[in-house]
Amino acid sequence: MSDKYDVVVIGAGPAGYVCAIRAAQLGLKTACIEKMKNSEGKGVNGGTCLNVGCIPSKALLDSSYKFWEIQHGSDQHGITIKDAGLDVPKMIGRKDAIVKQLTQGIAGLFKANGVTSLFGTGRLLAERKVEYTDESGKVTVLEADNVVIASGSQPIDIPVAPVDGEVIIDSTGALELQAVPGRLGVIGAGVIGLELGSVWNRLGSEVVLLEAMEDFLAIMDQQIAKETKKILTKQGLDIRLGCRVTGSQIKGRGKSKKVEVTYLGADGAEAKEIFDKLIVCVGRRPFTENLLAPDCGVALDERGSIYVNEHCATNAPGVWAVGDVVRGPMLAHKGSEEGVMVAERIAGHKTQVNYDIITNVVYIHPEVASVGRTEEQVKQSGEPYKIGTFPFVASGRALAADEKDGLVKMIVHEESDRVLGCHIVGPSAADLVQQVAIAMEFGSTAEDLALMVFGHPTLSEAVHEAALAANGHAIHIPNKRKR
Ligand code: FAD
Ligand code: AMP
Repeated sequence: MSDKYDVVVIGAGPAGYVCAIRAAQLGLKTACIEKMKNSEGKGVNGGTCLNVGCIPSKALLDSSYKFWEIQHGSDQHGITIKDAGLDVPKMIGRKDAIVKQLTQGIAGLFKANGVTSLFGTGRLLAERKVEYTDESGKVTVLEADNVVIASGSQPIDIPVAPVDGEVIIDSTGALELQAVPGRLGVIGAGVIGLELGSVWNRLGSEVVLLEAMEDFLAIMDQQIAKETKKILTKQGLDIRLGCRVTGSQIKGRGKSKKVEVTYLGADGAEAKEIFDKLIVCVGRRPFTENLLAPDCGVALDERGSIYVNEHCATNAPGVWAVGDVVRGPMLAHKGSEEGVMVAERIAGHKTQVNYDIITNVVYIHPEVASVGRTEEQVKQSGEPYKIGTFPFVASGRALAADEKDGLVKMIVHEESDRVLGCHIVGPSAADLVQQVAIAMEFGSTAEDLALMVFGHPTLSEAVHEAALAANGHAIHIPNKRKR
């Protein structure tokens, strides 16, 4: 094997492995270096997303939802179930099997596409050279025409609640619990905190989320955020806004260990809570440790992300960076699209990523999903706009499925009728919002969507009706806007 490549990718998460596969498809001699190991101590591809992020969290969300539904969602269908039991280690085992299947799948895809998969650590040197330390500690220097950094991110830890892996855990630890904690504290009511809090709430924990900000899901459309908070509170999540955690203390020993959390409440007064487990979910930071030699020429921005332009080129020629390690939302699909763009640009194409149309989902139940601008953002821009909403309680399909919470909200330019954003809390919101994302990508107006035939009875009809409502033409709800 020669050590000269067209492309060397550092990191095999969704940004890196997708980039490597696309580069190889384009005929480029490509290697992808990954340092993560699985529980058996073997090198594993897939990064955060497949191993400790998107996929395992969704596996547990689905398992926990099944358990919740059996207990709380069957009776009204006329189904009586006695004594639903719970085997947490089996549930975690199922999640692990899914992770194994998918990560092994990447190994297969690398093979099928001719990507050289290297387990170990990569470090960028000057002149597009990569120091590769394999799992036995042997060091080789790889030369490449292009290097793509896809080193991802890791959880932020805060000194007021240091993760001990036992009582105070991070998102990774929260995917490994072998028993349901009686009282579970979560610091941070962001996307990951809500998802993990939901999992354990459905399995029986009493969950308290302490969130420093006063607005709930501040980056989301606030009408949708308020509706979401109402739904989650009804489900039993205790969401305390304006509460900043200032300290934590481990109490007790052995199996009876607990953590006492001190926080400043919304009224400014100090308060304390005792939890069996505490999950710290205060965000993630770009991962660049031991990655960049001082003379490699790659600069970081003020947030510690690798600085890149709109095409993910760093300021070192031939060095690119994609995914969580660069600016923008920390989302798997954003990183993957950047990976494709970079591979294609290396091959001489002019590919771009449309950063304005990236869907964002909170996988609670029902799901919360959005694309484009929020009402607050459009209002601030001063552009004239109109809104079409449609509640799921008026959807036949949603009622049949007993999924009547939530709504579709479409924000539309008042004059051009172009769809500017869509925000949904409701059943299958993630898939519904993707339909609007496709429409927006093609420059759709609300009328274009209104003129389309939507199958009946489907949840998609709620999207159709919201588009109709924007122009006062909704059929299945009274129109606020008269036309
Ligand atoms: P990563 O997936 O972090 O991969 C980077 C890889 O690079 C890692 O495997 C790391 O070991 C490796 N690496 C780093 N440095 C080196 C080095 N020097 N040498 C070799 N290898 C190196 N996003 C969504 O879009 N949808 C979701 O539903 C979702 N759910 C999530 C749930 C949880 C609990 C978490 C934690 C995250 C979730 N995310 C979700 C975020 C998503 O996981 C990340 O945005 C995504 O994984 C980023 O991809 P990446 O390839 O940039 O980085
Ligand atoms: P996200 O970035 O979406 O994962 O959300 C992380 C959340 O954690 C943010 O909403 C922060 O406001 C919140 N957060 C950060 N530090 C603290 C703290 N000390 N106490 C409570 N919440 C915090």
